[in-house]
Amino acid sequence: MQVRVVLPDGKGLELEEGATGADLAAAIGPGLAKAALGVRLGDRLSDLQSTVPNGATVTVVTNKDSDAITLQRHTLAHILAQAVRDLFVAEGYPPESVKMGIGPVIENGFYYDFDLPRSLTPDDLARLETRMREIIAADLPLRKYALPRSQALARFRAQGDPYKVELIEDLPEDETITFYEQGGEEGFTDLCRGPHVPSTGSVTPHFKLMNLAGAYWRGDESRPMLQRVYGVAFATAEELEHHLWQLEEAKKRDHRKLGAELDIFVLDEDVGPGLPLWLPRGAVMIDEIERLAKEVEEEAGYDRVRSPHLAKQRLYEISGHLAHYQEDMYPPMELDSGERYYVKPMNCPFHHKIFAARPRSYRDLPLRLAEYGTCYRYEDSGALTGLLRVRSMQMNDAHIYCSEEQFEAEFLAVVDLYLRYFELFGVDDYVMRFSKHAPEGLGKKYVDQPELWRRTEGMVRDVLVKANVPFVEQEDEAAFYGPKIDVQIRSAIGREFTLATNQVDFAVPERFGLEYVDEHNERRTPLCIHRAPLSTHERLIGFLIEHFAGDFPLWLAPEQVRIVPIADRHADYAHELQRRLGAVGLRSEVDLSNERMNAKIRDAELYKVPYIAIVGDQEEQAGTLSFRSRQEPERKGVPVEAFSLHLKDAYDRRLLKVEPIRV
Ligand SMILES: [Zn+2]
Ligand SMILES: [Zn+2]
Repeated sequence: MQVRVVLPDGKGLELEEGATGADLAAAIGPGLAKAALGVRLGDRLSDLQSTVPNGATVTVVTNKDSDAITLQRHTLAHILAQAVRDLFVAEGYPPESVKMGIGPVIENGFYYDFDLPRSLTPDDLARLETRMREIIAADLPLRKYALPRSQALARFRAQGDPYKVELIEDLPEDETITFYEQGGEEGFTDLCRGPHVPSTGSVTPHFKLMNLAGAYWRGDESRPMLQRVYGVAFATAEELEHHLWQLEEAKKRDHRKLGAELDIFVLDEDVGPGLPLWLPRGAVMIDEIERLAKEVEEEAGYDRVRSPHLAKQRLYEISGHLAHYQEDMYPPMELDSGERYYVKPMNCPFHHKIFAARPRSYRDLPLRLAEYGTCYRYEDSGALTGLLRVRSMQMNDAHIYCSEEQFEAEFLAVVDLYLRYFELFGVDDYVMRFSKHAPEGLGKKYVDQPELWRRTEGMVRDVLVKANVPFVEQEDEAAFYGPKIDVQIRSAIGREFTLATNQVDFAVPERFGLEYVDEHNERRTPLCIHRAPLSTHERLIGFLIEHFAGDFPLWLAPEQVRIVPIADRHADYAHELQRRLGAVGLRSEVDLSNERMNAKIRDAELYKVPYIAIVGDQEEQAGTLSFRSRQEPERKGVPVEAFSLHLKDAYDRRLLKVEPIRV
């Protein structure tokens, strides 16, 4: 018997029945046999020991393949587990005292959870890494074998490893359990589904153990706390280096740290977790962002509306939030009359009611209702992080009600808004994730309107292609009422943030009974586009702090100019300067502290104030100032008028970087 497989180039290949991935690679050529790390059967990653099924499309995975690193990260987790066991055995502990949880591949690397006779220390990480490199140098072959469930259980019971026993007990009765053994019976064996590279020597050398953390077994607080060791691994030294640099840089730019240092926001225990307080400097940034949004939206034909922070239960029954979203909502307040009110998790139901507030005709469409609405979501307390995950959020929200014929132009305009904002904030790395429904979820996860799904998804795809933006399509990730687009952007140091989502909604307008009368006097239900390109103030400012490392463009800087008088006698002139800058709308502060001039300059630099204007005798007599700037080369003796016009121009144009002054 022979099996026939298809290679990536479309050519067929005949193999003996029972041939493995390794046999396949060898049949293609000795070079490939040597370079092979695994195989891909269709989309499924598998190892060289797996038999190749008849009819499969098979790709041999080598170092050049982006899947190689996944196999290598997984094998590194096993090598780490062996190193941990060896470390404890070398210290005189019996091997059974090292109990193991799970060791999966994660983004950028891997981890492994252990229950150990003593706590690991940061020093242990270096020793473990050394031992891992020895195991890699020994190039131990990984052998996969299977045992019946009962034997597998008996084995881990005998070893006294309760975690593995529990994992196996959760598997179906008739399942055969697979193991990977590295370095023979004297080596290390782990319960594992795989896949793995063929030997420990096939992993990438560009890895590093990063840190230790406590982790509850299976994420359950009532179960034992295990010790988790994290590692990262990349295909090349450059990628590893870049990753380590990015982590260092992200620490320096951490929005929680900078947000406190720059007096932007605080989180106060008495106010509550996830409920940030905006300090005056943060409030200035919010005002600037709202001013931007209002200008842009007014120009684009939006109408501004306002809605309350809470509403009756009935509203959320109509919207479907109570049925689909209740877990993320704050519990209700019950009034004396028994009526229940909820604080709003989203603005949509209110805008729908505004649409319904009077009869609508096709002449009213598209109707674009915008509001910086504050929403409240009961996020899990463990998930709250600074400004990026909060419980109260002010959203750059709007809902566009339009006909199907208007949809393309409206959606395209929304995509254009994003691009415009990206340019303004200097975001050049972004991707739109287009989430679609899955036909098998119709009537369950998704509204049961297959034809509407097909049409709207087609329209969204057309717009993305037309707008020429990078996008990826994802099956089975849509909202229940329509397709959505998640906008992913990268900060200046390459870290990814989910900024906002755009959604097309063809179901909820119907639930609200929204209608308009069309040109032929017929009643029709509008489509609704949900959009929030500037995200929430919380998420956007959290992102901007990291992106700019707190060194904001002039227009966004809470304090644009710090005025430093050289001596006390220059205080009046400094105030005169402040008044003149204020007259053209610029924000400045005068430093009248008793510090020496250099200390004052340092203080302004710590606050990352874009301009420091220094005034002394010479400046006062000539009606000028000297400045230092984070934006342009320093200058002496610049006339006040020229300086204020220069900055006002950059402010009005919302320049990312101010061009050097020409006087
Ligand atoms: Zn494994
Ligand atoms: Zn909405």
